[in-house]
Amino acid sequence: MTDKRVVIQTLGCKLNFAESAAMMQQLEKAGYRQVPMGQPAEVCLINTCSVTGTADQKDRQAIHRIIREYPEAFVIVAGCYAQLRPQEVAAIPGVSLVLGADFKTDLLPYIQEGRQEAARILTTANQDIARFLPACARGDRTRCFLKVQDGCDYFCSYCTVPFARGRSRNPSIESLTEQARQAALQGAREIVLTGVNIGTFGRSDGSNFLQLIEALDQVEGIERYRISSLEPDLLSDEIIRFVASSRHFAPHFHLPLQSGDDEVLSLMRRHYRRELFADRVARIKEEMPHAFIGVDVIVGMRGETPERFDSSARFLAGLPISQLHVFSYSERPGTQALKIDYKVSAAEKKRRSDLLHALSEEKRLAFYRSQTGRPLQVLFEHGNKKGLMSGFSENYVRVEAPWRADWENTVQTLTTGTLNPAGSALSI
Ligand code: SF4
Repeated sequence: MTDKRVVIQTLGCKLNFAESAAMMQQLEKAGYRQVPMGQPAEVCLINTCSVTGTADQKDRQAIHRIIREYPEAFVIVAGCYAQLRPQEVAAIPGVSLVLGADFKTDLLPYIQEGRQEAARILTTANQDIARFLPACARGDRTRCFLKVQDGCDYFCSYCTVPFARGRSRNPSIESLTEQARQAALQGAREIVLTGVNIGTFGRSDGSNFLQLIEALDQVEGIERYRISSLEPDLLSDEIIRFVASSRHFAPHFHLPLQSGDDEVLSLMRRHYRRELFADRVARIKEEMPHAFIGVDVIVGMRGETPERFDSSARFLAGLPISQLHVFSYSERPGTQALKIDYKVSAAEKKRRSDLLHALSEEKRLAFYRSQTGRPLQVLFEHGNKKGLMSGFSENYVRVEAPWRADWENTVQTLTTGTLNPAGSALSI
């Protein structure tokens, strides 16, 4: 390999996105440079997702497309799909290297060995996955995603993530505050803490999530942190109180409820029941009445009868939350959920999903309207879109204003006006 150009395609979550950036940093040290898709490249990296059957399908399409476009390249497939289905990936003609979870930390030696006749598979058994790939990726010029934790010990009955990413583990608090400091020096204003089950932070080294956020809050130069997602049973009163009083943690919570029906929660093997969830939401609202609360829900899980779905939808409708992230249940090989007999048809899943999307839009609009006329701190992003610029407030309301170059990548305290005609932002 003489010239050293790399094309990267990332599928799936923000964690994958951050890890792609970390793998690219390893390659840069050896003189590789990233080029946009479509330009000539000697190495292609596809970082895959396996959260649903559709995700697997998209992975395969992406791999085939890249191989068609880059028939001579050294094609690496990493990520959750590679870890879970290595043989399937290796059987795709043109794949050079299948990289499991524990091998993302040290790419170079394998690339330097060059293309072989057959794809090389480097994976470990899921219970042996132990390494941590540090990652902090710039999403745009204002925001970056800091990986604080990897893996999960919860084994929800529908989920393959613990098999793809191994058990919960994390780096030290000191190394993470240092990464945050470096991100601030490079101009990042906002950091989103990402991971798989970040509330379990510290189980591998005796620290805990509260200590982490207390330490990050002291880092100079970062105006705002967001916590990407916290399991409800791990969201303690102490964490809620800390966010309410902290200098930089945004009043923005993302809570994976998954179902508002206790029997479904039990089938899912979740670690709480809906009463606890309602209590957590109430506690947040007591401390931070204007907090944004986004909630993940899965519809059409095996065992979700019409009565159970109705009870879940009623529960959700009654919660003072700001938005729903609705996912349709997807059958995953090897999961315990497949032992549940009752199945929901595709058409019924779609109906349930449509209902909850409509509820979500109602909730979001009501939340946005409740924020009109209030002073909000808006971090404006770069870019002039038809004379407008936009950004998110501390409580995750999109705000639009006439474009001003001097407001890009800065936080402005502004009193917001009404909803724009599309209902997508509050206007100034
Ligand atoms: S908490 Fe449950 S849904 Fe989330 S990654 Fe762990 S096993 Fe999967």
